[in-house]
Amino acid sequence: MAAMTSTTRPFLNRRLAEFGTTIFAEMSALASRTGSINLGQGFPDTDGPEEIREAAVRALRDGRGNQYPPGPGVPELRTAVAAHQERRYGLSYDPDTEVLVTAGATEAIAASLLGLLEPGDEVVALEPYYDSYAACIAMAGGRRVPVTLRPHEGAFRLDLDELRAAVTDRTRLLLLNTPHNPTGTVLTRAELAAVAELAVERDLLVVTDEVYEHLVFDPAEHIPLATFPGMRDRTITISSSGKTFSYTGWKVGWVTAAPALVTAVRSAKQYLTYVSAGPFQYAVAEALALPDSYFSAFRADMRAKRDLLADGLTEAGFGVFRPSGTYFITTDIRPLGETDGFAFCRTLPKRAGIVAIPNAVFYDHREAGAPFVRFAFCKRAEVLTEAAGRLKALRG
Ligand SMILES: *Cc1c(COP(=O)(O)O)cnc(C)c1O
Repeated sequence: MAAMTSTTRPFLNRRLAEFGTTIFAEMSALASRTGSINLGQGFPDTDGPEEIREAAVRALRDGRGNQYPPGPGVPELRTAVAAHQERRYGLSYDPDTEVLVTAGATEAIAASLLGLLEPGDEVVALEPYYDSYAACIAMAGGRRVPVTLRPHEGAFRLDLDELRAAVTDRTRLLLLNTPHNPTGTVLTRAELAAVAELAVERDLLVVTDEVYEHLVFDPAEHIPLATFPGMRDRTITISSSGKTFSYTGWKVGWVTAAPALVTAVRSAKQYLTYVSAGPFQYAVAEALALPDSYFSAFRADMRAKRDLLADGLTEAGFGVFRPSGTYFITTDIRPLGETDGFAFCRTLPKRAGIVAIPNAVFYDHREAGAPFVRFAFCKRAEVLTEAAGRLKALRG
């Protein structure tokens, strides 16, 4: 029969076959079907600073960025990114050769892996991973080598011996994320120093995803890996405006790195989106220059929200890993007599009117993530209070 063509086999290619469906779609559908509070996906339910939104409106009206902006990003934003790195961390980057604007951190990650990896190169990454890492490594033809963060004294910690053991002669780069989504772990100065030493010793590149750089709660502090000895010229630092300024839909991100690395990343990026978000780039340039008071108020607000939800989860009987950074809380459901995060998250809407995400989706070693569930707290205080109240239903 003529209809028996190649269309009878699955369309999705082998590289992406394992990434066919995402839990976020299922859980968000579940949330709207059941009228649940959605603490699954990590986006704020209020917009960021009004003056920054107005800056975007002004750019649109003034015709700035309405046509293709320059490939590396508008000069105003590249200059603002370089000034931010200098002012915050004492890292100096040339806006013309060492800064690249991307369509969010997501494109920066994709372009870095596509531009730097040869097929078969190994990428060592901290597990659980942000969901795009595994797919992007696969698209680049790389092999992912997970190093599992393990719960220890109330936080998920990196085992430096395990990290060292994961590096082989085929390792091309380390893919790091601190502050870490979904665990809320912020790598310490000592841990970062050890990572840096390893990278230098084994001559590795490091791609470091620092999108939560401004969401770190005292006494933890964010220290960019690029500040450590020997790291500036082997580190691709990635950040984004989405999380820091609560405009996740604008998708303005950036890379800072040495010129040869930026060139490699740009070579891939130019054939992905080429450019994006013209007018928003001007607005983000203004956002990065906001006074320190903006950043400290943002952090204080998120800290209060963290405590509100963490206390509610504790009272409901969860094991709570109070995060040092990000806007996620990872919980342990075993104190509730549960062991399977997937099953738990599928029944949570019915039991408590809440949607959360099973951390197992962020693992290669699914069993290592099975009893953990992630909640987002980047929501209005009244929503979190209502959620905390609903969660009490679990105590039965
Ligand atoms: C949200 C997020 C990103 C994506 O950032 P965009 O700028 O929205 O593309 C990347 N990495 C981590 C860890 C994130 O949580």
